[in-house]
This record gives sequence, structure tokens and C-alpha cells, in this order.
Amino acid sequence: MSGQHNQLKPTSARPIRTPAELVETGLLTAEDLASSIDAVAERYAIGISPAIAALIDRNDPKDPIARQFVPDAAELNVAPEEREDPIGDLAHSPVEGIVHRYPDRVLLKAVHVCPVYCRFCFRREMVGPQGLGTLSPEAMDEAFAYIANHPEIWEVILTGGEPLMLSPRRLAEIMQRLHAIDHVKIVRFHTRVPVVEPERINEALITAMKASGKTAYIALHANHPRELAPSAREACARLVDSGIVMISQSVLLKGVNDDPDTLAALMRAFVETRVKPYYL
Ligand code: SF4
Repeated sequence: MSGQHNQLKPTSARPIRTPAELVETGLLTAEDLASSIDAVAERYAIGISPAIAALIDRNDPKDPIARQFVPDAAELNVAPEEREDPIGDLAHSPVEGIVHRYPDRVLLKAVHVCPVYCRFCFRREMVGPQGLGTLSPEAMDEAFAYIANHPEIWEVILTGGEPLMLSPRRLAEIMQRLHAIDHVKIVRFHTRVPVVEPERINEALITAMKASGKTAYIALHANHPRELAPSAREACARLVDSGIVMISQSVLLKGVNDDPDTLAALMRAFVETRVKPYYL
């Protein structure tokens, strides 16, 4: 992160979405604004939820939570070898919203908004208010027809964007459609919501997540042990107590978790939260 964040400011009760709000909440300085942050904001979405804003130590210019979410002018440096679709989703997308890379599982990308926007996201060209949006009803029909017509699909992984940004009603509709497809046995949600917006994990959302009747897994994305704050742990407890299995997913990030002590603390925080360490 550029600039100094050493002025303690009150934590925002609303999500932070603009460069001006980053300055108002003490996460960037006016000098940072002058250094191309507006240009970064034009290209890539900004989003810092109140729960995440509260975790950032404004006295630490290298704060590992800030590094993940506060935009930096360096984001505009794009190397010639970088691609807009670095993991090659498009090459494996037979119909809109589906990525079928391995025979027995598909990604279902129903929505492309998130409660936070991670600066390192490998789908950053697709997510955000100017991203791919939500699948239309017609596209959703085609995606479900594809899953139904491929009996080798054993697992459906809801990702995005952030699948738990869907309302309980819309999520339940998707789950009920999966319920009707016998060969799908596992439903997995890739999400950051229990950490970044823990209050969203309520009874209605959990009921919707379980409406497929399939075995449900959550792969929880968190990268630093401080993200497993008390409210996040309580949200995970509500999910695990409901019978959903939780596993972890973390991204190895320079200046965030690229040392053994931080990674060990992160894995222990997952285990303490009943989240089984799964992949890094
Ligand atoms: S929450 Fe996930 S999809 Fe959204 S910006 Fe972060 S890494 Fe990307």
C-alpha cells in the first residue's frame, strides 16, 4: 500500500466504495488520491465492508488486511504476459455461467458482485458493478440444462463473484433446481461472506443453502489469521452447527501471509473455527 494510514479515523458503518470514502475513513491520504487511485477505481471495483474496515490497523502502513483490499496505484502496471482471464475460465465455458474444467465438477457463476473487492482477484475483470452481472433467467435455464444433460457432473461449485450475495429466495431457487438433478451429489459454495459480512449468515440464508438436500460444503476464503475475528467465528459456528462442512481456501500473498508463522496461525485459526485446512 502506498501512503501512510497512521491517522486513526472512526470506522465506517457502511461499505467503502469510492476513493473519497477511503480518504474519509483514513485508509488513504489525499496524496494517495493524487497518485492515480481514481484511475485504479475506474478500472477495478473498490469494496471494503464494515467488518473488514474495522480490522485494519491504520497505524500500520503495511497492514496485511489493508494490503488485500485498499487499492494501490501499482495495480495499473500490467505486464505484457498478463491476461484478462489468467485461469482460462473462458476456454472451459460451454455455456454462460458454467466452467467445466474437470469431468466430475462444474463451476456455476450465478452472480459477479462481492461485498469486498480483493486487489489480487484473478476474476477482477469480470466482477464488480461493471462486471458480468447476474445470470439472466435464460442463461440460468441453459446452465441448468447443461448440468442436467451431463451425468458425469457429481459436484456443483457456486462461485462468482460471491454466491452468498444472492438473496435467500434466489439462492433457494437455485438449490431447488439442483435438488431435481439426481447425479449431482455435492454442492460447494466458494465464499468470503462469513469473514467479510458475517451478519449475512442468518437462518434464512442457511436454510436456502441447504435447500438442495445435497451434501453442502463451504470453502471459506481467508488469508490472514486476523480475518477470523470473533464475529466471523460465530458465523462459521452457525454454518457448521447447521450441518454444512467447512474447508479453507487461501491465497499465498506477498506481505500478507508469505511467512511460516502467519500461515501456521492462519491454519490454526481455521482449525479452531472448525474449518478444515484444504488448499493454499
Ligand atoms: S471475494 Fe472472491 S470473487 Fe470477489 S473480489 Fe474477492 S477473490 Fe474475487
